[in-house]
Amino acid sequence: MDRKQFLQTTIMGSGAILGLSSLSWLLDGKETDSTMPVLFIGHGSPMNALESNIYTQNWKKIAGEIEKPKAIICVSAHWLTKGTFITAVENPLTIHDFGGFPDELFATQYPAPGLPELAKETQALFPNDLLHLDMEWGLDHGTWSILKQMYPLADVPVLQLSIDYNQPASYHFELAQYLQKLRKKGVLIIGSGNMVHNLGMVAWDKLNQESYGYDWAIEANSLFKKHILDRNFKAFFDYKALGKSMQLSIPTPDHFYPLMYVLGLIGAQEEITLFNDYTMGGSLSMTSVKAG
Ligand code: ZN
Repeated sequence: MDRKQFLQTTIMGSGAILGLSSLSWLLDGKETDSTMPVLFIGHGSPMNALESNIYTQNWKKIAGEIEKPKAIICVSAHWLTKGTFITAVENPLTIHDFGGFPDELFATQYPAPGLPELAKETQALFPNDLLHLDMEWGLDHGTWSILKQMYPLADVPVLQLSIDYNQPASYHFELAQYLQKLRKKGVLIIGSGNMVHNLGMVAWDKLNQESYGYDWAIEANSLFKKHILDRNFKAFFDYKALGKSMQLSIPTPDHFYPLMYVLGLIGAQEEITLFNDYTMGGSLSMTSVKAG
């Protein structure tokens, strides 16, 4: 058996074991006493998968503070579809959906198993025909770049939920309610995007300068934080009406919609904390949310 075969066998083996042991908690309908938190993570550059910096150190810290999940469902800014899909494969591929980065990043793998049983159970939580099982997508960098830091052993099953890009912010907020039950079954739900995200205006020469943001980006970052901490989540439904700074921050809503899933899951009594509250490169923010 060569190294590749060994790795494949090991990975498939662990996937099968996880699949079997998961049946008891997935299908018996029992809920745990605790509710998993929900996270919105500003993922920033794909290089965060490999680097150690203030952002990745906080990702690790958060992962260490919360109960180890039985599975993770991630809504990534990088999987936009017509209709909503959930990955249902045993062994999702690591997708390198970017260009212009070092070979080391393209060689990076995140071999977390999938959990088809959980995909099917999640589908059953949604109204008929609203959630489709997907056998093609794997884990894109919106997911694996953060999980590589949070759970480097890749020993927690990971599923991705796609973003129906034809739908408005309110739709994504409402859709999240169908995931709520899973939080009581040890499932960690993550939205991975960026609140302020205007790639066309990035000050590339200032990317490494700590917390550099244009005035409008700083203003928008404050607006995001204010409405989130005030629990005024529905203010984001018509985000363009929140002013010029928000319009510049969300030129397209791909990196913003994952936040709507997270906000849609936050209970009235749940504590909300912010972390990685930094603007960077002028037109980006890494500001992240933990609730619960
Ligand atoms: Zn991204």
